[in-house]
Amino acid sequence: MAANSKHVVVIGAGIIGATTALRLVQEGHRVTLIEPGTPGGSQAASHGNGAFLSPASIIPMSGPGLWKQVPGYLLDPTGALTIRWRHLPRLLPWLWRFLLSGVTAARVERTAAALSQLLRDAPARHAAQAEAIGRPDLIRRDGLIYAFADRAAFETEALSWGLRRKFGVQMRALDAAELHRRLPALAPTYHFAIELTEGGHCTDPGGYVAALVDAALRGGATLRATAATGLAIENGRLRAVRTAAGEIPCDMAVIASGVRSKRLARAAGERIPMESERGYYVEIADPAVDLAVPVMPQDGKMANVMTTGGLRASGQVELASDDAAPDWRRADILLGHLKRTWPGLDRPETDRSARRWQGNRPSTPDGKPVICAARGCPQVLHAFGHGHIGLSSAPMTAEIVAALIDGREPPIDIAPFAASRFG
Ligand SMILES: Cc1cc2nc3c(=O)[nH]c(=O)nc-3n(C[C@H](O)[C@H](O)[C@H](O)COP(=O)(O)OP(=O)(O)OC[C@H]3O[C@@H](n4cnc5c(N)ncnc54)[C@H](O)[C@@H]3O)c2cc1C
Repeated sequence: MAANSKHVVVIGAGIIGATTALRLVQEGHRVTLIEPGTPGGSQAASHGNGAFLSPASIIPMSGPGLWKQVPGYLLDPTGALTIRWRHLPRLLPWLWRFLLSGVTAARVERTAAALSQLLRDAPARHAAQAEAIGRPDLIRRDGLIYAFADRAAFETEALSWGLRRKFGVQMRALDAAELHRRLPALAPTYHFAIELTEGGHCTDPGGYVAALVDAALRGGATLRATAATGLAIENGRLRAVRTAAGEIPCDMAVIASGVRSKRLARAAGERIPMESERGYYVEIADPAVDLAVPVMPQDGKMANVMTTGGLRASGQVELASDDAAPDWRRADILLGHLKRTWPGLDRPETDRSARRWQGNRPSTPDGKPVICAARGCPQVLHAFGHGHIGLSSAPMTAEIVAALIDGREPPIDIAPFAASRFG
């Protein structure tokens, strides 16, 4: 153990908790990881994500003019974003902050600047991490392709792509001939694409989390199969984490329980506006087409990627409570789009082998995670609210948390991720 070794309880073994636990073990801390489910299991957003490691994911969901589209989101059940009517009254305060956070181009640019710090070298960090745990197969750095109907469709996203260029995302345009040479199974309706040459992907997001947890355990961490129920804080100092199986005394705690982090943060005196942006996937085992590179068909806003489980189409944003029943029509929308994007899939076997999943993105209204010490109790660290970018940004998040635990200067400016931005 290092001289300044601490006993740290990491709450939640999704990608954020697993990566953090491993990092802390590597730095010589004693780590207890608390997780009531299977690490990387289907209860976690980290299980079913789009597997993209994209340095381009710096643009928040909320942008100028989005408010005009809200009525449409309420009425159109087939779009990429929908709001469940019944949940609207409860969601209104979050929704209001969400719309405000992107109301001007300047606000979007500030968020993009902050997120670019978290994501800049994400694929390289993941590759190094997977290599270090002896599973280099889990991360590939083959690039990422964003496909458009034509250049005009790309130009409708000029603000987003301009900011990506400004913040150093490496990209190159592909014309129709090159696009279809790279992706022969792609529908002929796509005539233009942007390739992110430094993009990467994970071949098995759930398996990756499990492998990281295994590596942390081999390094000396302990896994407790229980749920954290609260924090024992006395005179502003953390004494223990309360769990369904009793208290775990510790020096510090990291809240990394995804969408369920809000209640624990509250126990540390912090009110964080966080809601679930619910997402879905369909995964086709033994698909009739193969993708050499993951693709984001921009009209469908869904990640298409080969995983060890098959061809996965992951996406959709459904605003509703995290415990509401899945609306499998949303997965069917993904399946329909997948078959249009890859016409070779349009056959009965595809439908028969399609597996469906629903999960909860832990989302703050401004699209930035919360990574900081709790104001009322500095031994409690927040590491949640990663929304659409939790997989990509996990290694940098873990590095920040490790620095905060050791009292070192974090590797990037973390002011944009402070809980205090919510008042
Ligand atoms: C459809 C979809 C597509 C996505 N695509 C991408 C993508 O391509 N690239 C990308 O970077 N990101 C993507 N994301 C986002 C990314 O998946 C999430 O941001 C990330 O998984 C969040 O990780 P997490 O560890 O914070 O939460 P989770 O993965 O949800 O893990 C939280 C863990 O905490 C546990 N837990 C809950 N309550 C407690 C408790 N009381 N005590 C202890 N443990 C508890 C849960 O069981 C769970 O295992 C996508 C998300 C979705 C839903």
